[in-house]
Amino acid sequence: MLKQQPQTDEETLTVAGLPLPCQLVRSRRKSLAVHVRHDRIEVRAPLRIARREILQFLSRHQAWVCRKHQEKVQRAAEHLSLVDGSEILYKARSLTVRLQKASRSGVAVSDRELTIHGPDLAPDKVVAIFKGWLQAQAKAWLPARTRALAEHLGVGTKLTDVVFRKTKSKWGHCTAQGRIQYNWLIMLAPDGVIDYMICHEVCHLLHMNHSPAYWQAVAGVCPDYKRYVGWLKRHEHRLWF
Ligand SMILES: [Zn+2]
Repeated sequence: MLKQQPQTDEETLTVAGLPLPCQLVRSRRKSLAVHVRHDRIEVRAPLRIARREILQFLSRHQAWVCRKHQEKVQRAAEHLSLVDGSEILYKARSLTVRLQKASRSGVAVSDRELTIHGPDLAPDKVVAIFKGWLQAQAKAWLPARTRALAEHLGVGTKLTDVVFRKTKSKWGHCTAQGRIQYNWLIMLAPDGVIDYMICHEVCHLLHMNHSPAYWQAVAGVCPDYKRYVGWLKRHEHRLWF
């Protein structure tokens, strides 16, 4: 069967009381939905719904939209930034970032501070030093743990590769070909969360979905998994940059 081209139609709505510009996108969908971004509100609507109805819907959900927006602004302000004096959440501890001139590049962690040192502290160089440090940890830790767990669960032969990539919104990914991908920024998280992440991806070698059977397999390896899912929900935005 031929798939019909989705019809989209965009316009900007002026809605008094909302904190952001509001963009209306009409398409072949059945219901109204609102997405609050940090810089705009996106309203997805069916093709034939009346404007009046959309405006009513928005004014009914105005308080929710404003609250969501505040949350987004707050979260954006808490994103990881590698400048001297900023805060970084490392293994569930809040540390102060320090940039220090030194002949050799590297990262040192003390009780209160995470110091990035090197001969050139231009922003891109600082990011490169930090990235090298986290990637080395990821390579030393994740592939070995991933293989061991896959073998323990009897799916060792399904695991074809473990790779690293800094994606925009994901910590890990498992393909149907048995390739597991991790975002090396996960090494900033507490060890329990990292282990949960490994368990999450390896259990996809058993079930390529998030079905009840899948979550049962996760719970078999990581009985506390809900705690770690909760930790990520609350704190993960602080680990991104
Ligand atoms: Zn998953």
